[in-house]
Amino acid sequence: MLYEELARCYDRLEGTSSRLEMPSILAEFYQMVPPEELRQVVYLTQGKLNPDHVTEKLGMADKLILRAIIEVSRLPEEQVTELWMKEGDLGAVAERAVAQKVQTNLFSQPLTLERVVGNLRGIESAEGRNSQSTKVKLLTSLLHDASPLEARYLCRTVTGRMRVGAASMTILDALALAFGAKEDRADIERAFNVSSDIGTVAQQLAEGGMEAVRAIEVQVGRPLRSMLAERLPSLEEVLDKLGGVCALEYKYDGVRVQAHISPSGVTLYSRRLEDLTSNFPDVVESLQRSFKGQEAILEGECVPVERESGRLLPFQEVAHRRRKFGMEEAVRDYPVRLFLFDCVKLDGEDLTLNTFPRRRELLQSCIDEGEGLQLSRMEVVESASEAEEFFNAALDAGCEGIMAKSVQDNSVYRAGSRGFLWIKYKKDYRSDLSDTFDLVVVGAFAGKGKRKGVYGALLMAVYDPEGDVYQTVCKLGSGFDDAFLAELPGMLEPHSSPSPPLSLSTRMEADHWFEPALVLEVMGAEISLSPVHTAASSSLPDGSGLALRFPRFTGRVRDDKGPEQATTANELLAMYRSQSPS
Ligand code: AMP
Repeated sequence: MLYEELARCYDRLEGTSSRLEMPSILAEFYQMVPPEELRQVVYLTQGKLNPDHVTEKLGMADKLILRAIIEVSRLPEEQVTELWMKEGDLGAVAERAVAQKVQTNLFSQPLTLERVVGNLRGIESAEGRNSQSTKVKLLTSLLHDASPLEARYLCRTVTGRMRVGAASMTILDALALAFGAKEDRADIERAFNVSSDIGTVAQQLAEGGMEAVRAIEVQVGRPLRSMLAERLPSLEEVLDKLGGVCALEYKYDGVRVQAHISPSGVTLYSRRLEDLTSNFPDVVESLQRSFKGQEAILEGECVPVERESGRLLPFQEVAHRRRKFGMEEAVRDYPVRLFLFDCVKLDGEDLTLNTFPRRRELLQSCIDEGEGLQLSRMEVVESASEAEEFFNAALDAGCEGIMAKSVQDNSVYRAGSRGFLWIKYKKDYRSDLSDTFDLVVVGAFAGKGKRKGVYGALLMAVYDPEGDVYQTVCKLGSGFDDAFLAELPGMLEPHSSPSPPLSLSTRMEADHWFEPALVLEVMGAEISLSPVHTAASSSLPDGSGLALRFPRFTGRVRDDKGPEQATTANELLAMYRSQSPS
């Protein structure tokens, strides 16, 4: 297959103003892709070479990409740099430069997908002393044979900023359309949620149809997308929603960990599917000591504790373990304890369709609790007063609240989705003025007066998984200290975008735009209807959206959450409705 065909599809995606059209553009293209190449094409649609759980190392520094563009186009460095300043997007620079390039070589070979992937893999794996020149050489060789359009997307791919806005849910829609499986969309999504590998799902669908997709199971060594919780404002409502009886657990505040245990070792994944194994060697050891079976996937929360007393400490302490070097000292100085709360696979059996009580029973049966590892504290309750007592005990123990879990027959493990089978209830919900939201930064406004030179405020958004789109909800300007304000431009720079991201629905004009990536915890006083924000607007009359009033940054960067795990438009809508009787 020729890379040109992929580039043309990207171009169509980028050119459409209707997000509803994206799945059909992609579907039309996927139908043409040879089944054996579909897996790779799907990763590339997201600007990647690998499934989500493999750490992507493709990124090249801007200055290396510029070097390759200059080398291929033979244009003067100042001209290319000036173009870059003007366009703000290396893809556009490459496109213009390749179109203007001084023709020196007539022997140009059309780019095949295979060659592009081969060189990109070379860029990904280049290490050591000559790695920079190797990367430039590999990119130059591709650009040499690229059309202007291909050059645009090759350079975007190596910057890690594709800007075509095709997120996982859009790709799943496209796959269902392409392979005549529209009515099986839910099963396709389940396969993705239990494998976190959209390429595998695509390939199975293309080669073996829905039967092969349904056979995709949870596998030790391949993380699944975490099950998420909804929230409700009172314990009465929680109990009501769960049918009058539920299991309550302490809600520990640390880092969520998915442990994959097999005879060959233990791997730990974060909620964003990053490999955390090297950060928690002590947890790995505890699991090896305590686990009594052959192989399993267990979930829990890793919480910082005081060494002598075992007292739970604030989650910030665990950040000391997210470092690359000096792990031995960090393990000694910042001890943690793992509180296990679920078991999704045990000794060959996929448990995701078992009920929560059964999974808990199996978890209990395969673990010997020890000093560094315990099961989450759990109790089954049938009344709001029992729930209240348990909630107070959780706060006394240093937890941030409780998790209520369904014990009904349908209490399966819903990988990757937020639902009312798990409901969180946190202490913030108690005070009238505060509820926290995990919002995505999508824009920034230049600072004035005291904030001249740094951002004055950020434009924040919620995520709408149904439309696969981000919707603005507030302008956030308070709660920042000077140090954080100074750090922000550097944190956001890798995600900057010269125009509003395609996946954003906005009526605001910001001074800077960002691809959705950074999630911040924000406290808000009230949710109100707004003519300028777009959150949940498709469910509200007169084109209104929802806005968060008096937003304030809590100081917590949610780097454990990806943008798609941010507060959703529906959650916000439910909270809006629960605060206003209309
Ligand atoms: P939140 O991050 O506020 O959306 O709350 C959900 C998170 O709470 C999960 O992703 C876990 O990391 C964490 N958590 C702490 N204790 C539990 C528990 N007992 N059961 C499930 N999740 C828990």
